[in-house]
Amino acid sequence: MRDLVLVLGDQLDDASSAFEDFVPEDDAVWMAELPHESEHVWSHKARIAMFLSAMRHFRDGLRGRGITVHYRQLDDPRNRGDFCSELTTATRELGPSRLVVVQPGEHRVLEALRRAASEIGLPLDVRPDRHFLASTDDFAAHAAGRKQLRMEYFYRELRRKLGVLVDQGKPLGGRWNYDAENRGSFGKVGPGELRPPFEFPPDATTKQVIALVKERFASHPGTLERFDWPMNRRQAVRALEDFIEHRLPLFGQYQDAMWSQEPYLYHSRLSAAMNLKLLDPRKVIASARAALEEGNAPIAAVEGFIRQVLGWREYVRGIYWQFMPQYESMNHFAADLPLPELYWTGDTQMSCLQQVVRQTLEYGYAHHIQRLMVTALFALLLGVSPQQVHRWYLAVYVDAVEWVEMPNTLGMSQFADGGLMASKPYVATGKYINRMSNYCADCRYRPGDAVGAAACPFTTLYWDFLMRHRDKLQLVPRMGLQMRNVQRLSEADREQIRAQAQSIRETGAQHA
Ligand code: FAD
Ligand code: SF4
Repeated sequence: MRDLVLVLGDQLDDASSAFEDFVPEDDAVWMAELPHESEHVWSHKARIAMFLSAMRHFRDGLRGRGITVHYRQLDDPRNRGDFCSELTTATRELGPSRLVVVQPGEHRVLEALRRAASEIGLPLDVRPDRHFLASTDDFAAHAAGRKQLRMEYFYRELRRKLGVLVDQGKPLGGRWNYDAENRGSFGKVGPGELRPPFEFPPDATTKQVIALVKERFASHPGTLERFDWPMNRRQAVRALEDFIEHRLPLFGQYQDAMWSQEPYLYHSRLSAAMNLKLLDPRKVIASARAALEEGNAPIAAVEGFIRQVLGWREYVRGIYWQFMPQYESMNHFAADLPLPELYWTGDTQMSCLQQVVRQTLEYGYAHHIQRLMVTALFALLLGVSPQQVHRWYLAVYVDAVEWVEMPNTLGMSQFADGGLMASKPYVATGKYINRMSNYCADCRYRPGDAVGAAACPFTTLYWDFLMRHRDKLQLVPRMGLQMRNVQRLSEADREQIRAQAQSIRETGAQHA
């Protein structure tokens, strides 16, 4: 055998650079379901099932085209559990002259593969991941010489370079950014009757995986009752079409809004399909542009959506590879509390947290503002170790892959990188959650109160956070207004807030 092409669980693309010079007569594919990968963080059952089922669908697709795939199933008694052991066994049996792989989505995995190849004594050809529109070199060139990195500038650079929503170098519609029009809430009336997203009921392969995960990972968090994700390229394209036709037109307007029992609202649900490489972001962007050109979606929605895919998604990947491995241990606020138990159960009287955590456990999904401004915000204000927060996010969402999860968690949501990625910490009181959702309506707390028996823990902890980290926050230009508001609090108010916050922290938010 000439090349053994290693295909990892988030590389399910037969047009990837690993297949560039693939010759079916001389080469073969190696894939393995490794228990260690499901267990190194305490993964949600749906996340495990997502990866395993999509891998099996991909394997079957390759075999159907006459490609030899050496595949180790999780339930194979010979499965040795981790990359190094499995790869050593496979290469001994198959005797390839070279290993080929696309750059993995995790620094840890890249290192493990390099170690394994060197122990086995075979050359490892690590190829660039062409799924992304910008390479890690493009990002490094963008970052070189800049004092500060910001998504907005990288995004504009990519739009100009790729000709996305630009006309002769100028933004289409006259503005680069339609954020101001994209902050709507549903008010008291709510979102009304919503058309549910297109569902993909489990087929025979997925049913087998679900049974396996239920048995083998019974004690892991989450349920599989709502498991209806696209598992192959055809289904992922169907999910994209469904989003473009039915949800994109209102995506922008309601992208920050939240509502009880409505996990998806106008969101695309495409992250897992894209991250596993079932769906090409170029196709996603082209479909959104076509909707604009055909008059089916307004510019604010289309720009708002493309900003997420071309802007944030590419930017966070750049941040990850630019700053790893140092990035994962950053902790700007020296936060060190353990993650409260409620993150694994949803058992809390705080209605917003209860609903978002329970939804997460039920679906393996929460949309961006639920992640950023409910679960992550509470952890930041409480003072939880950002590395523990990171491990939770990497465990509980079907779309969680480290290159995208880590910068979002450590950088955007916890400001643990001290502002490498975002210009300010995303902090707010319970009043923000009240404005953007209906969660507060049936909560025992009052979002506007910072002290007293009905004080909203978010609001108490928000003021306490600003006081505790005053020295660092004063140096952040965009925190000026919020820091001036702290100055207006009387000394008596400050004392009461500090005491109430301390008691929430001491109980690990157990009674909140
Ligand atoms: P939509 O709201 O419909 O957005 C469209 C697409 O844009 C998404 O599918 C996604 O590919 C991309 N996108 C949107 N926001 C971001 C962002 N901030 N960073 C990168 N891409 C973005 N996203 C992941 O894919 N995997 C993660 O593990 C992950 N962890 C996160 C952790 C935290 C703390 C936060 C605040 C955000 C995280 N995100 C993550 C980003 C974002 O929340 C999800 O991409 C989004 O909620 C997925 O749902 P959707 O497909 O319906 O997205
Ligand atoms: Fe959450 Fe506070 Fe609103 Fe309760 S009052 S739902 S804790 S923001």
